[in-house]
Amino acid sequence: MRMSSKEQEIVQSIQELSDQAGTHSPSISTITEKIPELNIEVDACFLSNPYATDLFSRQMQEDLIQSGRLREVLEFYPSQNQVVAENLSHFLEVPKEKIFIGNGATEIIQAVIHNFTRRKIVINIPTFSPYYEFVPEGVEVVYNQLYHGEGFQFNLERYIELIERENPDTLVLINPNNPSGCYIELADIEYLVNRLHWVDNIIIDESFIHFAFEGQSTDLVSATYLTEKFENLVLMKSMSKDFGIAGIRAGYAVMDENKVNDLLENGYLWNLSGLAEYFFRLYSNPEFQKRYEKVRVRYLNETQQFFAELGKLSGLKAYPSKANFVLVELTNGMKADDFTAGMLVKHGVYTRDCRDKIGLEGEFVRIASRSWEENKRIVNAAKDVLRTGNTGFGLGRN
Ligand SMILES: *Cc1c(COP(=O)(O)O)cnc(C)c1O
Repeated sequence: MRMSSKEQEIVQSIQELSDQAGTHSPSISTITEKIPELNIEVDACFLSNPYATDLFSRQMQEDLIQSGRLREVLEFYPSQNQVVAENLSHFLEVPKEKIFIGNGATEIIQAVIHNFTRRKIVINIPTFSPYYEFVPEGVEVVYNQLYHGEGFQFNLERYIELIERENPDTLVLINPNNPSGCYIELADIEYLVNRLHWVDNIIIDESFIHFAFEGQSTDLVSATYLTEKFENLVLMKSMSKDFGIAGIRAGYAVMDENKVNDLLENGYLWNLSGLAEYFFRLYSNPEFQKRYEKVRVRYLNETQQFFAELGKLSGLKAYPSKANFVLVELTNGMKADDFTAGMLVKHGVYTRDCRDKIGLEGEFVRIASRSWEENKRIVNAAKDVLRTGNTGFGLGRN
């Protein structure tokens, strides 16, 4: 598989966009705007449930557009943070005083770390980059390396030892983790929180929890209930991935009410848009939940089948994942940037080269699960790219 000079040019333009985007991949709209000749047909970089986006978008057409209510959503101020929190509190079965609504979970990560982390934070790596990027000056960062040789699995006892030795005031656990997809069982989380009750802030980020499961059941799992007993817990959740609505910016956190008050005294009065408010109302509606549950379980099952198919390809190792993406390692000598370039330019499939992830050395690519049809295309594209091997035109080495 040699690339034509046209294809090489495209690859170079993508590289420039990636460099500008820093630790996050350039979005599809940025890429297609800047490189119109590139045809992205499957976005396996962004991590969302496409069936949930369909469901939400149909419902929104009906409720806001066909009814003409959209005008009100645009014209008037949305509700304040605590009004939306109250609405959500019935559904989450958590007192409204403990809920903080964010303009996406990223805003909450920033708010929590800037306001409550004073001395030292422990972050597992590889990880979602804002957790270390937002750490203010003067706060020490301790990285807990998840080991390649252990499949990036979280080691509970070793972690507790590290925390006791380092004495940090903040911990971050993403469950399932991004980008590895590794999952920590709820019983282990409960054990850990009991052992580490003396740490000021334990952040548990459940942005991918709707794709996780324990045993044979596909029932939703969540550590939210632990916030009742443990005041140091900050249970965080983005709605972008499981509902496929990154564009409207919606996330929430459950934490001690003193923390919520501290944040609200610092601002965040109308940090939600009218569309995000509309989403949270829908989310709390039992009828909508029933319909969402169907697309969630369908996607979860298809996703696990997709991972199994990818795992069968020779030349790559797929790490077990309970998120909606899978971390794959190229084991045939191929470079990750060559793989992602081949996938994109030859097959129109956009995947995430993980070269920039700290704590992840080697040839790793993160591939998101999409619709059933798209997943088939991803598997076929990967099969083809793996067969042809290195082209020497990888994104980072032009
Ligand atoms: C994507 C992501 C977020 C942030 O999502 P928002 O779109 O800001 O709600 C938070 N945590 C993790 C682990 C993520 O992957």
